[in-house]
Amino acid sequence: MRGPEGSIGSRFQVMPKNKRVAVIGAGTMGNGIAHVFASCGHEVFIVDLSRDALDRALGSIEKNLDRQVKKGIHRPEHKKQTLSRLKISENLKEAVSEASLVIEAVSEKISVKADIFEQLDRLSPPDCILASNTSSLSITEIASHTRRKDKVIGMHFMNPVPVMKLVEVIRGYFTANKVVEEIFSLIKVLNKTPVLSEDYPGFVANRILMPMINEAIYALHEGVAKVEDIDEIMRLGMAHPMGPLQLADFIGLDICLSILKVLHEGFGQSKYAPCPLLVNMVKGGALGRKTGRGFYTYD
Ligand code: NAD
Repeated sequence: MRGPEGSIGSRFQVMPKNKRVAVIGAGTMGNGIAHVFASCGHEVFIVDLSRDALDRALGSIEKNLDRQVKKGIHRPEHKKQTLSRLKISENLKEAVSEASLVIEAVSEKISVKADIFEQLDRLSPPDCILASNTSSLSITEIASHTRRKDKVIGMHFMNPVPVMKLVEVIRGYFTANKVVEEIFSLIKVLNKTPVLSEDYPGFVANRILMPMINEAIYALHEGVAKVEDIDEIMRLGMAHPMGPLQLADFIGLDICLSILKVLHEGFGQSKYAPCPLLVNMVKGGALGRKTGRGFYTYD
């Protein structure tokens, strides 16, 4: 079921370059999103509550740019130019007061996102588009915490952002077609491919991916096979570039659990119930790569 404006027309408006973009959250996704926008000529402010997270984000971006230069994707000057377009801040107001696009990439919790969108609505210019990188939460619900529901949209980037081509675009019930068109154009300018999904739990990507990851965790929990064997079966047998348990570590087990809870609650079907082993691991702080321990251990 589509929102009040029906289907999308064909009029594209290219978002002008060199606009100020603010990325809220400097974690796994936030630093990748900031990297891609700065690399394409936009001035980017990255905001986080934690100074450490901001410093780590700049370090990761620099390392990833070095990798791109080494691979011949960019010239060395490009790294310098990209870094010069990035600013970090712990002050939301400073970062968004002149923004034309804000992308929120904080923890996958509706209460946290609701609070941020209320602030963004107050602090950013009235015509600024507010996007969420949520993996599963309702864009319509997030938008309801603003007075500009028509300018709130989902931009679901994939991890690692500088490498992955897809951006799943989620149209909330009230998102204006003009805003969807503008975001489609912008994503193409970033040299990525936008694909539209309507606003239902987990959208398309995680509605399909997370039950597979959950099933792999159940197979481990029930002693069907060892971690490495489950991953190898899926890598070699299904030609997946990464096994599901390795992928879960890469995404973050807390994020996987949050998405499964949204699917379980949203559809009310037991097939989405998170495996107790996943729940225990998250409770114990074994969140995957970002904490050094998940199904595998990391330096
Ligand atoms: P993360 O845990 O790596 O980073 C979240 C960051 O948000 C942290 O640095 C934290 O300090 C910061 N933060 C929390 N509350 C904040 C606030 N009020 N203001 C400013 N900063 C705040 O999380 P992530 O993996 O980058 O995920 C972020 C979002 O992206 C989530 O909604 C997630 O579902 C989505 N996502 C994740 C992946 C993935 O593979 N990890 C892929 C696609 C989408």
